[in-house]
Amino acid sequence: SYRRGGYHAVRIGDKFSGGRYIAQRKLGWGQFSTVWLVYDSQTSNYVALKIQKSAREFAQSAIHEIEVVSALTKHDPENKKCVIRLVDHFKHRGPNGQHFCMVFEFLGNSILQLIKYNRYKGLPLNKVRDICRCILTALDYLHRQLGIIHTDLKPENILLVSTINPSNDPIRSKTIPILSKPEGGMYNGGGYVVNPIEKKLKQRARRAVARITARRASLGGVRPVTTRDRCLDGIDFRCKVVDFGNACWANRPLADEIQTRQYRAPEVILQSGYSHSADMWSFACTAFELATGEMMFAPKSGQSFSEDEAHLALMMEMLGKMPRKIAIGGLRSKDYFDRYGDLKRIRRLKHCPLTCLLTEKYKFCMNDARDFADFLIPILDFVPEKRPTAHQCLQHPWLNKSSEFSVQNLDSQMSKLQVK
Ligand code: ADP
Ligand code: MG
Repeated sequence: SYRRGGYHAVRIGDKFSGGRYIAQRKLGWGQFSTVWLVYDSQTSNYVALKIQKSAREFAQSAIHEIEVVSALTKHDPENKKCVIRLVDHFKHRGPNGQHFCMVFEFLGNSILQLIKYNRYKGLPLNKVRDICRCILTALDYLHRQLGIIHTDLKPENILLVSTINPSNDPIRSKTIPILSKPEGGMYNGGGYVVNPIEKKLKQRARRAVARITARRASLGGVRPVTTRDRCLDGIDFRCKVVDFGNACWANRPLADEIQTRQYRAPEVILQSGYSHSADMWSFACTAFELATGEMMFAPKSGQSFSEDEAHLALMMEMLGKMPRKIAIGGLRSKDYFDRYGDLKRIRRLKHCPLTCLLTEKYKFCMNDARDFADFLIPILDFVPEKRPTAHQCLQHPWLNKSSEFSVQNLDSQMSKLQVK
C-alpha cells in the first residue's frame, strides 16, 4: 500500500507542517491511514498524527472526518464528552501524492488491547462500568447534542485516556517507554530522563497489590496477584471514542451497510433503515465483550446459509424470536426469512438466554449475571425504537452500583465460600 494513492512512508525524525511536528514512532494503522506519535515543537506536547492515504476517495473521507471531529471538539470546550479531540489539520505532499493529515490528542491503548492483555478473561465489572459510562457519555453527546451516528463502535475504536500524562498508561509504557528511554535525543532534547510518572505508577501499583492481597487473604486466599491485576487495578479507567471516518449525521446516512460485522444491528442486516439506536446495539455488544472477553455474536457462514443468516440465528438464540413485523420488514428480509418470520435455512435454534450464558459459560454469580443482563437486554431490543437512548442508559442502576471487589468473580467465589 506504500505506493501512489496509498500510505505515506514515514521515518523517525521526519518533520511535518513546516517542521512543527516531529515523528517519534508508529502508533497504529487502519485501512485508510497510518497513525504516528509526533512531538509538537510548538506546544512541547506529544500528539497523534493520522496520515491518510492520498487517493481521491481517502482524501474525501478525511475531509469528512475533519468536518465531524471539528464539530465534536468545538461543541465540547470543557473536554468532558469522552470523544477524541482534533488539535490541527493540514496537507502533506510526499512521493505517493498529497495526504490529508489530522493531529489528535495522544491517547493510550484501545480497550481491545486491554481485553487481550487480560487474556480474554473479561475485565472486573467495576472497570466495565467505568468504560461503559464513558462510552455512553460520548454516545449521548453524539446522538442528542450533535445528531451524529458513529456507525463503527467497537472495542478497537475506544482508546484509554491517561489521567496524569499520556505516557503513564502502564500497558503502553511497558512496550513503549516513551519518556523513560529517550532515543537519540528525540525526546525532551536528549539525555536520559528519569521518569517521575513511572515512579508514581510503581507506587500506585504497590499500594493496589497490598490492597488486593489483604482482601484475598481475608477470603482465604483465592489466587496469587498477577502483574495483570496490578496494572488493571492501577489504572483509573477513562476512555474516549475515536475513529469518526464513517460517522454520519442521522438525517444524512452515508451507506446502507454500516458497522463491523460482530457489532452490526439487525436492522442494518435487514436493511430496514437505521438511526442512533444502531450505535446502542454496538454498545451492548461491546459491553458484553468487556465483561466476558469474548464477542457477543461471532457468526460464521455454513454450507447452506450465509454469515448474515447465521448472525440473525445467533441473535434469536440469545434474545428470542424476532417479531414477525420486524423480521419481514426490511429490503433484504426475503433473503433470510419466510413469510411467517422464521429463518429459511436455519430451522432449529437453541435458546440460550443471556443470564444463563453469563452464569454457565462465564461463571458470573447469579446476582451479577441478572443485574448485567437487566442492563443489556433492553438495549438489544429487535425494535430499534424501543431501545433506550444513551441518556436513559446512563440512569440505569447497574452503572451506578459498585462491586465491592475489583477482581471479577471474587464475589461469586466469596458466595461459594459462604455456602461451604
Ligand atoms: P483508520 O480510520 O485508518 O481505521 P484510526 O483512526 O482507527 O484509523 O486509527 C488507527 C489506529 O491508530 C487505532 O486503532 C489506534 O491504534 C491508533 N490511534 C489512532 N488515534 C490515536 C490517538 N489519538 N492516540 C493513540 N493512538 C491512536
Ligand atoms: Mg479504525
